[in-house]
Amino acid sequence: MNDAQHWDVVVVGAGVGGLTVAGLCAKEGLKTLLIEQCDRVGGRAMTFRGEEILANGQKWYRSMLGKQYSWLPYATPSLEKMIDGKMLAGYTLDVGYHGVSLSGAGYFQDLDALLGSGVAMKGNVNGTYVGDAWYLDFHAGKFDPRIQTLIEDNRIPFAKFYLAASKMKGEDFDALEKVSVTQWCKDNGLFEHKTVFGMIHAVSTLITTINDPDDISIGDIFRYMGTVINPRFISGKAKYPSGFAIGGIMRWSQSVANRFVQLGGRLLLAHKVEEILIEDGRIQGVVVAEPAGGHRKIGANHVVSNIPIQSTFTVVAKSNFPAQWADRMENLYGYGSIAPYFGLNRLVIPESQWPVGVKDVLVIPRSEGFAHDIYMCWNIQSWADPSCAPGGKHLLTAYAPVTEKEARDKNLMVKACQLIVSYLERRYPGFRDSIDWGLFPTSWKLEGVAKSKTQAGTLKAPVKAPGVQGLYFAGDTVKGYGVAMDCACAAGLICASTITGQDYGVH
Ligand SMILES: Cc1cc2nc3c(=O)[nH]c(=O)nc-3n(C[C@H](O)[C@H](O)[C@H](O)COP(=O)(O)OP(=O)(O)OC[C@H]3O[C@@H](n4cnc5c(N)ncnc54)[C@H](O)[C@@H]3O)c2cc1C
Repeated sequence: MNDAQHWDVVVVGAGVGGLTVAGLCAKEGLKTLLIEQCDRVGGRAMTFRGEEILANGQKWYRSMLGKQYSWLPYATPSLEKMIDGKMLAGYTLDVGYHGVSLSGAGYFQDLDALLGSGVAMKGNVNGTYVGDAWYLDFHAGKFDPRIQTLIEDNRIPFAKFYLAASKMKGEDFDALEKVSVTQWCKDNGLFEHKTVFGMIHAVSTLITTINDPDDISIGDIFRYMGTVINPRFISGKAKYPSGFAIGGIMRWSQSVANRFVQLGGRLLLAHKVEEILIEDGRIQGVVVAEPAGGHRKIGANHVVSNIPIQSTFTVVAKSNFPAQWADRMENLYGYGSIAPYFGLNRLVIPESQWPVGVKDVLVIPRSEGFAHDIYMCWNIQSWADPSCAPGGKHLLTAYAPVTEKEARDKNLMVKACQLIVSYLERRYPGFRDSIDWGLFPTSWKLEGVAKSKTQAGTLKAPVKAPGVQGLYFAGDTVKGYGVAMDCACAAGLICASTITGQDYGVH
């Protein structure tokens, strides 16, 4: 191998996890190369300008989605008509709905403080429909007044769900990792009242993207509440439960990538890693495919794979790892989602909801052929960030979790997309007529590893590969806590800490 091509660290993939590790390794003075198969950074947290889709065409857009475990089962009108009619001009579209947990005041903030990166975010409060009534979620120590009356009249300890984690420690979170939200609520007097449990279910799905509360790990939620959400609200660092990056989510990734390069890192875009090289249980480097054809070997002391763990075995043979461990990793399941966006010519949604992230756990009933009743949350993203829609138009973005298997089923997904439009029409009469266009990107890996009671948190992939010296993992399929992108960032902080020996405060 050519010495000039020997690196301290090679990171495969410039998703949130890979960018986090690469940025921190460069900051510590390690000679770091970040290799990304796409022409841009961000991974699943990627952004397209409407004009790009118009200029490059639907084949390009579909192939870009495909690289991020996503596809387009449905569009109204057809994508072809949308492109011919230049309907997407002036819109900014993330791969799907991309709300940022705590409006960036979680692990994103930790990384930005370390690197001097970061972008403006606009926060929002959240609300929940239970049946046809909607309530504001618990925020800044207060319940919606109607919920406050309800819990006082019925003596329901609802606040316990939000505050119990503050008194817990590491071993308490570990012990609760295998306990479901439903079970914990049953054990704590929070299951019987339909409205109270409905709201807890909705918040739990928002945090984990799993529809079924019997499957959601309460320990994973409490670890994030106890160590990040609650302390940051109490200290005033966090003001909102969620928010959007102004100008699209990729601006955050781009900002981290820019700092990485300023710190001396090298970013190689549009290069796919074909193989991670291992000899006698030790990392040697990687092989990349050159865009013009041919291959190149790149030597490294440390290699970090940001590829979701289940797919890592496409570039590194399973035989390098303990067999049982590799089988378990390959079979960890993720959770998918339909992430619709609508270009709207007017807002028929009540004005009181414009600044609110709204959600409902019963948007599509299970009886329509799904594994569980389907939840959805939605925001008028253009209210938070007017730059994402052209003047006089509005962008509504949403996500509805579905299982990995459902996400790949064309007929089921078309049916689900149509049922989502019917739901929104029922909720907001006139909605159907307010749609200029609707796109329904669907992903089978919104969360790379679903935070279920059988595989959350410490049960995910470790940052250090067993059996191979010098190989590491980072991203949302790796041990790390919190909501999707923030979880990928947490895993990146833990991974970087293992390589650099620095303590970034996440373990
Ligand atoms: C539709 C949708 C909606 C979402 N909504 C939200 C949301 O509202 N809030 C939220 O927090 N999260 C959301 N997420 C989840 C979030 O995007 C992910 O959790 C997060 O971006 C994962 O980051 P990562 O670093 O783990 O992995 P990835 O983003 O998957 O990064 C992996 C990177 O590796 C690259 N790569 C893969 N193979 C190779 C190779 N062989 N060579 C070179 N490069 C390679 C990929 O191109 C990619 O850039 C959503 C995801 C989707 C798909």
